[in-house]
Amino acid sequence: MWSPELGNGTVFINGTWRQADSGATFPSRNPATSDEIGAVSDAGAGETAAAIAAASAAAGGWAATTPYERAAVLLEAHRLMTERAEDLAVLMTTEQGKPLRAARNEVRYAADFLQWFGEEAKRVYGSTIPSARADQRFITMHQPVGLVAAITPWNYPISMITRKIGPALAAGCPVILKPAEQTPLCAVAVFQLLAEAGVPAGVISLLTTRDPGPVGQVLLTSDAIRKLTFTGSTEVGKTLAAQAAGTVKRVSLELGGHAPFLVFDDADPVHAAKGAALVKFLNTGQACISPNRIFVQRGIYPEFVRVLTERVGALRTGNGADAAVSIGPLIDEQAVAKMERHTQDAVTKGARLLAGGHRLAGQEFDQGTFFAPTVLSEVTPEMLIYREETFGPIAAVTPFDDEKQAIQMANDTAYGLASYVYTRDLSRAIRVCEALRFAIVGVNDINPTSAAAPFGGTKESGLGREGGREGIAEYLDTKLVGLSL
Ligand code: NAP
Repeated sequence: MWSPELGNGTVFINGTWRQADSGATFPSRNPATSDEIGAVSDAGAGETAAAIAAASAAAGGWAATTPYERAAVLLEAHRLMTERAEDLAVLMTTEQGKPLRAARNEVRYAADFLQWFGEEAKRVYGSTIPSARADQRFITMHQPVGLVAAITPWNYPISMITRKIGPALAAGCPVILKPAEQTPLCAVAVFQLLAEAGVPAGVISLLTTRDPGPVGQVLLTSDAIRKLTFTGSTEVGKTLAAQAAGTVKRVSLELGGHAPFLVFDDADPVHAAKGAALVKFLNTGQACISPNRIFVQRGIYPEFVRVLTERVGALRTGNGADAAVSIGPLIDEQAVAKMERHTQDAVTKGARLLAGGHRLAGQEFDQGTFFAPTVLSEVTPEMLIYREETFGPIAAVTPFDDEKQAIQMANDTAYGLASYVYTRDLSRAIRVCEALRFAIVGVNDINPTSAAAPFGGTKESGLGREGGREGIAEYLDTKLVGLSL
């Protein structure tokens, strides 16, 4: 197994790796085996204040670099990440659990953000605006928003970092990152390569910590931090946004999802079931765009459910380091308990359990947190799984009668991130896309994401966009200049 060198500690401030002031550490563990894979420095309020001071001192210099200089650093980071892709993928599989093939895909996706935003740095254009007064001219310019606090989750432990740091650096902002407690080593590996790529001292800081409270408190109450960018649960996102309001920070939130997956009678049920099985079980269902409710029109419902169950039954669960495995462990015991709760609740309320539905036991599984890939049919709105984000390997299927009912059921949620539609009728595809209150729609497509495209949510799934042209705008203030001639 490859792991970054941790000799000097995992807190990175002012261009230097160091231990926590208290000397405290916490373990990072492999969720497939529970083995400790590294001792991580446990930073707190003091280190957070030091990171803010270092970033404040570095901010002016970084903002004054040309976009071409910032692009060169980001493109070198992209080169290094590509060169080290296999080591990073192995580390990710060991620390987060996803199968190696999925980890390789994520590293590629993560590197794309460094390249895309390296290129976008050069395209931050202002505008001229006609005035109603003959003696007046307007121009707009875009300037870096200032110090950025970034907080990231464990489910995509490298790409969620570059999706924030890429545009922030491109825009000319220093970034202080607090990564998830479960995946700090992935963050350390990314910071090592960013430092090697030439990001100046103070411009990036890494605060690994076991307890996010004190670090978050200092970041969010600081006047110096002008922007919070957060990816994680809706519950935590709301708390952090409320804290950030005290100093009126810019806020971007990428929060939870509850994606509907609509399959109409005119779609090919085999193709749709194949797509549902692929996207539902991606990352063991631990993805914000994972379909939580699969709605299938009655005419093809039996065939869809049959093919889905067959495909799910053939999935191989185990340690992601094994090339034959397509489903890794869940991140922790709490996640397994949630799968048990959602399954039991659904079955008690009348759902049919067609595959899985239990924790996996036996030699290969006993030290890890594994749950069997599961299919539930006849799922109804009274069930927990119909309402709560499951974040695990359970496909929940519900029949519907017509388009109007499908849209009503799909929109019956506080979330609004991803959605999917399977149909061969172009008019229906457009009608349904327009009616869905979700910020992303995949039409016969299970991967509507790219560094070049704006990703984000509506309603309680979030604010702002990451990726695409919109991604860099989140880190820029617009300044209006009015000129009297
Ligand atoms: P989480 O529990 O909300 O944690 C996310 C991050 O917030 C972690 O780094 C966590 O630190 C930190 N945090 C928690 N409480 C905090 C506080 N009081 N102050 C500062 N930081 C705090 O979410 P998760 O379980 O890691 O991730 C899963 C969730 O993320 C799901 O809901 C998923 O849908 C969502 N997600 C959304 C997107 C998107 O793009 N919309 C992408 C990926 C994931 P600790 O790790 O130390 O607790």
